[in-house]
Amino acid sequence: MNHIVTIAHLYPREMNIYGDMGNIISLSKRLEWRGYRVQVKAVEIGEPFNFDEVDLVFGGGGQDSGQLVMCPYLVKRGPVLREMVNAGVPMLVICGMYQLFGHGFKTIDGQELPGIDVFDTTTIGKKTRMIGNVIVETTRFGRIVGFENHSGQTLLARTQAPLGEVVQGFGNDPKSKREGATREQSIGTYLHGPLLPKNPRLADHLILTALKRRYSVTELEPLDARFETSAAKSAASRPQ
Ligand code: GLN
Repeated sequence: MNHIVTIAHLYPREMNIYGDMGNIISLSKRLEWRGYRVQVKAVEIGEPFNFDEVDLVFGGGGQDSGQLVMCPYLVKRGPVLREMVNAGVPMLVICGMYQLFGHGFKTIDGQELPGIDVFDTTTIGKKTRMIGNVIVETTRFGRIVGFENHSGQTLLARTQAPLGEVVQGFGNDPKSKREGATREQSIGTYLHGPLLPKNPRLADHLILTALKRRYSVTELEPLDARFETSAAKSAASRPQ
């Protein structure tokens, strides 16, 4: 098979911490093991980018300083990214990028970083950092596990669906017990770790959504999940 899948990686120089790159590796490997060719294309500051050929979008987390540098460029890409979200392109955005996929992030220093309004969320930096292993119960992907480290607290608008309910850890904020946000096929979450190697169901959901759109694929060949399951178990059993 010579099918190509194109993954856009948003601003990896500024936004790539706590193993986020592992998500790209996980997506690529799971596609390659099933016979697809993968090209990962970085969206970089000041460089042209053609989103027409993109099947899946990924964006990692970053320090406030990294967000400050890349956010004006992301905002310029806002219209095309929103259009892709509405068209059902699967996206996974983590922590710092998740914050900027909402309406904006006010840092603890009082800087206002605009977002691209994909999610109906706002984020405000607070003194308490939320750090530790997180367990989240979701209706679509079952129980997912990851690691969070953020000072931004994200508030969801009343009609904004979360990714899931927090079983352990903080998630969007210390009070709501809700984690992440979803819209169409796009997922925002605080979970690093990296997330996808430990949560193969979520990885395969993103992959299948991309393959359905591009190649009308209806199901994925199952892969051995022993290592992934034991990584998830070990992460879930660690104290917070
Ligand atoms: N800078 C943001 C915060 O601390 C995001 C951190 C991250 O991406 N882990 O809230």
